[in-house]
Amino acid sequence: MKNNNLKTYRSKRNFEETPEPTGKPSQSSGQALFVVQKHAASHLHYDFRLEIDGVLKSWAVPKGPPLEIGQKRLAIETEDHPLEYAHFQGIIPPGNYGAGTVQIWDEGNFTMLKDIPADKAYQEGHLELLLYGKKLVGPYALIRTKLSKTNKPAWLLFKMKG
Ligand code: MN
Repeated sequence: MKNNNLKTYRSKRNFEETPEPTGKPSQSSGQALFVVQKHAASHLHYDFRLEIDGVLKSWAVPKGPPLEIGQKRLAIETEDHPLEYAHFQGIIPPGNYGAGTVQIWDEGNFTMLKDIPADKAYQEGHLELLLYGKKLVGPYALIRTKLSKTNKPAWLLFKMKG
């Protein structure tokens, strides 16, 4: 079963008010994208997104992605976002879902570290990636752990030795 529908994404947003993309079908560039958006919402966090299976699989990282080996950061799974969202920066107006400023903090491409399809690794809750960003470079892992207090899957994001 493909887990790539954008119903949840759309149901949270009023596109007459927010400048965020509606998520029209869009083609992959061929190279899998990653993006990290700094999101000054009610709580500042960093949204970490990976292009997998035609959408952006997404996590909210309250403390931001780790830059050093050994730092482990909580990453709360959030709803799939459309591919176009990788290029979004702007202000989500007050009263809307996620109201606040969104800025691209880092972006680039990624590949899988091992020879395993990204969608399978995602479903298994064990992603090992090679990131080609400006701030985030090298091998990273995202490992699903348990449900967070809010009942959303909690993952750990960390930089690996490499
Ligand atoms: Mn966010």
